[in-house]
Amino acid sequence: MSISDLLDDWFESEQVKAGLAINGVIGTWAGPDSPGTAYVMAHHSIGDVGDGHLGNWGFPEGGMGAVADAIRRSAEERGATVRTRAPVERVLVSEGRATGVVLRGGEELHAPVVVTAVHPKITFLEQVDRAELPADFVADIQRWKSRSGVVKINLALAELPNFSADPGTEVGEHHTGAVEMGLSPGYIEQAFQDAKQGRGAARPFSDGCIPTVFDKTLAPEGIHIMSLFTQWCPHEWVEAPHTEELEAYADRMIDCYADLASNLKGAILHREVIGPWQMEQEYGLVGGNIFHGELSADQLFHMRPAPGYADYRSPIAGLYQASSATHGGGGVCGAQLLQGGYRGAVHPVNPRYREVLGLPCHPSLAEAPGPADLAVLAVPNAALEAQLAAAAAAGVPAAVIFASCQDPAPPPAGEPSLAERLRRTAVDAGMAVCGGTAWASSTSSTA
Ligand SMILES: Cc1cc2nc3c(=O)[nH]c(=O)nc-3n(C[C@H](O)[C@H](O)[C@H](O)COP(=O)(O)OP(=O)(O)OC[C@H]3O[C@@H](n4cnc5c(N)ncnc54)[C@H](O)[C@@H]3O)c2cc1C
Repeated sequence: MSISDLLDDWFESEQVKAGLAINGVIGTWAGPDSPGTAYVMAHHSIGDVGDGHLGNWGFPEGGMGAVADAIRRSAEERGATVRTRAPVERVLVSEGRATGVVLRGGEELHAPVVVTAVHPKITFLEQVDRAELPADFVADIQRWKSRSGVVKINLALAELPNFSADPGTEVGEHHTGAVEMGLSPGYIEQAFQDAKQGRGAARPFSDGCIPTVFDKTLAPEGIHIMSLFTQWCPHEWVEAPHTEELEAYADRMIDCYADLASNLKGAILHREVIGPWQMEQEYGLVGGNIFHGELSADQLFHMRPAPGYADYRSPIAGLYQASSATHGGGGVCGAQLLQGGYRGAVHPVNPRYREVLGLPCHPSLAEAPGPADLAVLAVPNAALEAQLAAAAAAGVPAAVIFASCQDPAPPPAGEPSLAERLRRTAVDAGMAVCGGTAWASSTSSTA
């Protein structure tokens, strides 16, 4: 089913349909009229940030890099050594079993288990000798589709866009959510058709946001960042930088927004335009596809990334896959932790369930077997304070908060906000805390 067909069943307004259609085509080489795009919307709607609403999105303080940094710090605290700028050239295999990797430059690292989180075409067609793999698996990976057409545009702004529909350059509610450019499903479809015919969209669509309205760590006071996730350029642009075409495409994208916010062009201090070639060269996103592979029906569930190998194993013993090209991906997702065979202890806590993912579920943290290294708080804002306090009381040294940390109701005048109360709890207990969108707006740093 296409996302257009699905939305036609439920809505009349072209603008409402356009806003909802974007989740059906984001990162996808298919327009809203293409069959299969209704699934893509479902894919983006089953996740949640822990506030009780499916399909919600959040901003991690410090940007997505802060998530990677938090994971790194957590691993280092447990004794892991993390090496960056150390590209793996080859996976070492002996008698059908992974024994380590060889880095570019020749250094060998030996290990009983190798986990790859890079694109499957890189791992299985470049890093592993094909003679080690079944021929049908190699053929599946060769056929794996990674087309894209995404162009990321980052703008540094001297002031917020002054939208004529709701004027003002002070932070307004409309600056805090998605700032979409897609006037109707037809507008979005046309952008895809342009790219399919080999040219950058005349009027691209954009899934925009302004994270600096929440996160003061990203830019100096008064400066804003506007992040535009846009589509489409031809997927073939992955083959060369296409710098001039990308700059012209970005001009057209900014023109679209400037029609609605006339101060935008004058407010731009700097811009960065990242196309498929740059994404492949710099981030290892083959084809520029943000999900390490298209979310088409033939590349999902038991076929992600290949039939028979959708359980995070690979044809080589001891070589596991953990990338976005496995089931659960694309996107940033934590479902693989248990399914991927994580051997550490995990203790679900929820008074309403006896069992979660096959594990016994405990009514409260105090009743869970301890000690815990990390509390993952995927609870509504209203329950957050009590749960963080319970984690602190149980001596848990770190927590990840998947919630916005916004007060369910405004606190009485002069009383600290929920974010501030959480911060104090964490600081008093000496806990390291990661996550919480509103955290940044009321504090200068995390604990
Ligand atoms: C512009 C953009 C916007 C996005 N927006 C969202 C969003 O809003 N929400 C969401 O959920 N997802 C989003 N995504 C998708 C999400 O970022 C990815 O699905 C996710 O990062 C994939 O995680 P991963 O660990 O599988 O792979 P990656 O994050 O791609 O990590 C793979 C790593 O392997 C490294 N690597 C490659 N080759 C080698 C080698 N030979 N040796 C060693 N290392 C190597 C790469 O440099 C990279 O650091 C977005 C992606 C992009 C590009």
